[in-house]
Amino acid sequence: MQVLVKKRMVYVFAFLVLFLAALSYPVAVKAEAGNYYLSMGEYLSGGMRITSLNGKYFAMMQTDGNFVIYQSDTQKALWHTNTYGGNYTSYRAMMQTDGNFVVYGIKNGAMTALWNAGTHVYGSGTYRLELGDDSVLRVKKNGNTVWNSPNAPINSSGWSYMFREPKMAKKISSPYGWRTLNGQREFHKGIDIVHKKYLEIQNNYPVYPVNTGTIKHSSYYGDAGYMVALATDDGKMVRYCHLQNNLQTTVGSYVYKNNLLGYVGNTGGNDYPYHLHFDVNTAGTYDGSQLDSTNTINPVDLFPNVVWD
Ligand SMILES: [Zn+2]
Repeated sequence: MQVLVKKRMVYVFAFLVLFLAALSYPVAVKAEAGNYYLSMGEYLSGGMRITSLNGKYFAMMQTDGNFVIYQSDTQKALWHTNTYGGNYTSYRAMMQTDGNFVVYGIKNGAMTALWNAGTHVYGSGTYRLELGDDSVLRVKKNGNTVWNSPNAPINSSGWSYMFREPKMAKKISSPYGWRTLNGQREFHKGIDIVHKKYLEIQNNYPVYPVNTGTIKHSSYYGDAGYMVALATDDGKMVRYCHLQNNLQTTVGSYVYKNNLLGYVGNTGGNDYPYHLHFDVNTAGTYDGSQLDSTNTINPVDLFPNVVWD
């Protein structure tokens, strides 16, 4: 009888210890597989991941400090927070109760924010971080997206739109094809994109790579103004023209979809203020050094899911 009581006391004591331990730590996602979102207050420690429902993608808080979205079968990185290499002992990716999604580096008990989605500005509500079946990571407030990673595959080739939500410019002021400009008949080899509300893009609109790839050209280039030519990993050459500036200035450097190319401007010979001229060349041999782009296709066809305003 005495032995039984002691045993029971041990169980009660053990339970209490575990219970108190659980209380003293913030909530963390317990199971890795099968979880596709983090609720408020939940976080991923180094090495932990969430996986999209279809299993095709996972987002991982790596032990090197980088938070990365991967394609499961190829292990190809689609987007990352660029936070690796910090001298911290551990890392945490947290969906905070204030609505912000933050990557922290931790050392000697101090947490340093290394990257954040900036979503705390949207005020109080029910937030969560979701990894969608389309590879896109979203912070949702009351079910509505307030931030998304820029690696949205628009079609099977994995292309993303060059503007991020919610300030997405989706109106074409000048389509691909023949047009008359300043009394001259010419073939417009790309599309000019403006903002539907202002009929122009403000010069602070950031543009991103539509795919991972290599910078082939980056300079001021005559009528094209500040121009970036990007050779995408799927064998196309895309050009962004009339930029306010070029932020990827190293020819030959590799860019991910979150590497800002520059901001929309009105540089060069421009027929419309503040728009992005965007063209796509499929020859695979064009090196981006010529102003004239041959073997172009209508870029609209590469964004079938974009609803143009
Ligand atoms: Zn144009």
